Amino acid sequence: MRIEELRRRLRALGAKPGHEHRFLSAWAQRRSLDKRHSRAEDYLPLALRDALPGLLGELAGLARLKSEHPGADGSARLLVELADGQMVESVLLPRDGLCVSSQVGCAVACRFCMTGQAGLLRQLGSAEIVAQVVLGRALRPVRKVVFMGMGEPAHNLDNVLEAIDLLGSEGGLAHKNLVFSTVGDRRVFERLPLGRVKPALALSLHTTDADLRARLLPKAPRIEPAELVELAETYARATGYPIQYQWTLLEGVNDSDREVANIARLLKGKYAMMNFIPYNSVDGLDFRRPSPARVEALARALQRQGVLTKLRDSAGQDVEGGCGQLRARAVTLRRQ
Ligand code: SF4
Repeated sequence: MRIEELRRRLRALGAKPGHEHRFLSAWAQRRSLDKRHSRAEDYLPLALRDALPGLLGELAGLARLKSEHPGADGSARLLVELADGQMVESVLLPRDGLCVSSQVGCAVACRFCMTGQAGLLRQLGSAEIVAQVVLGRALRPVRKVVFMGMGEPAHNLDNVLEAIDLLGSEGGLAHKNLVFSTVGDRRVFERLPLGRVKPALALSLHTTDADLRARLLPKAPRIEPAELVELAETYARATGYPIQYQWTLLEGVNDSDREVANIARLLKGKYAMMNFIPYNSVDGLDFRRPSPARVEALARALQRQGVLTKLRDSAGQDVEGGCGQLRARAVTLRRQ
C-alpha cells in the first residue's frame, strides 16, 4: 500500500486535512487516536470512525514481527513478515535508531552482500516502509531512521521519498535524522533537493577505482567516484548535513594504502565523513575482513590526511552476520 492511496481513502471517508494529519500522526507515532476533540468540528467524520477498526487492522498487518534477535551491542535484528508472506529485515540500533528495508531483495547485486545474491523480488510500498518504523516503535523509541536495510532506495525512489515525507512530517522525526543510503544514482541527486523533507545522505563508495567498483557493485549506475563525490557535495552544502560515506572494508580488495591516498584526495575539504565498516563474513561468499590492526591503521592514516573517519561495525553482527542473512535463513527453513 502506498501512503498516497491511504490519504485518498481517508479523504473518501470524509477526512479533512486536519483529520488526515491526526490519523497519520497517530499511526506513525503509535499514539492513540482521539476520535472526539473538544470542538465538534474536529470530530473524525462518522464514516471514518466506522471504518477505523478495519483500517487499523490493515495497517497493523503490513509489517508483523516474525522474530527478534538481540545483539550484544544493544541492537536487535528484526525479521519482519509483510502481508503477502514476504520477509524483510529491520534493525533496532543503539541510541534510538532503526534501520529499515526498502525492497525485498536487491538488484544491485553487490558481490559481498547476501541480499544482493537473490536479486530483486519486489518493491516495498511506502506504507510498508513506515510500518517498519511503527513496528520498531512498539519495541523501543525510534528517533532516527536509516534506509540501509535490504534494497537500494534509489531503485524504489517514489515509495522511499513518500515514506520520508511522512516520517519527517506526521512521523515526528527530525529531517537530519532520516538517512537516505544509496550506491549513487543521478535520480537521487535530482529528486532529494525537491522534497519538503530533505534527509541526510549516506553514499556507499567502497572503492575509488571505477573498474573495481563496477566489479564489486555490478548493477550500480556507472558514475565515476569523483563525480559522485561532487554530486553529493552539492547536496551536503544545500542541506547543511555532511555526507556519510560508507566503505565496507574487504581484505586485499579495497584496504590498500593507495585507496586511502585516493580517498584523501577526493574528500579532503569536503563536507563529509568516512565510515569504515569491516566486512562481516557471509557463508558462501569469499570475502574477509582485514585484521583489527590493519583496520585501525587505515582509519588513522585517513584521519591524519584530513578526512574525518569513523570505524563502525554493522549492528548486531553477532546475530546472523550482515544484512539479508536472517531472511535467507528463514526462507531456507520455510522451504525445508
Ligand atoms: Fe543491495 Fe545494499 Fe546489498 Fe548492495 S549492499 S546488494 S545495494 S542491499
